[in-house]
Amino acid sequence: MENNNLNISVDSFKEALTCGICQEISTLPVHGVCCENAKSMAPACLSCVRAYYELNRPIHVRSVYSKKSYNGCGCNLNIKNRRSESYYCHTTQLDMVRNLFGPSICPNEGCNVSCSTTAELRRHLNGSTNPNDKFSACIKAFTRCKYCGIYGKREFIDGKHFEQNHSLIQCTVCWKHVMRGTALEHYNNHRRELCIFKDKIIALGLK
Ligand SMILES: [Zn+2]
Ligand SMILES: [Zn+2]
Ligand SMILES: [Zn+2]
Ligand SMILES: [Zn+2]
Ligand SMILES: [Zn+2]
Repeated sequence: MENNNLNISVDSFKEALTCGICQEISTLPVHGVCCENAKSMAPACLSCVRAYYELNRPIHVRSVYSKKSYNGCGCNLNIKNRRSESYYCHTTQLDMVRNLFGPSICPNEGCNVSCSTTAELRRHLNGSTNPNDKFSACIKAFTRCKYCGIYGKREFIDGKHFEQNHSLIQCTVCWKHVMRGTALEHYNNHRRELCIFKDKIIALGLK
């Protein structure tokens, strides 16, 4: 009898954690925010919801203008919205229960690290990792550049994009700081200016 009760509660926990999209136990459960009903409906994996609303694609290439809410509440959502807060909120109240069902695997292809808690996976994805975390920020996660707001995978934003657009180098001719991406152009300008100056020197008979 007691055993039976225990099974019922494990099953109901499982049910409460089942993703309304992939039907597996949610990885980073989130809930819809479109209406009051959405809060008490099935959760979904963060990655399933982001894929369903095409949130990792630039706004102009998203396939349609609006979609029915994934959870069946009946709302229509404008999927051309920039802010993820208008689609879902993290259901951190489920964290403790979710952690009982095993590690939280990073859903990003090419990463797939295994975090021991949902909180750790959340930090891995949003880049707010602390020194005790086993894994650093996910390089395969989509993020916004903190300098110019462009959106892309962290490996690109923190790598090539940063190097070319936000990393400054000092010019050894005029000592100004110039963007790495414009350094060659800056150098060529100096060369042109030097040629003009040289002509002037020659014209003045100083050489
Ligand atoms: Zn899912
Ligand atoms: Zn709704
Ligand atoms: Zn990852
Ligand atoms: Zn940038
Ligand atoms: Zn210079």
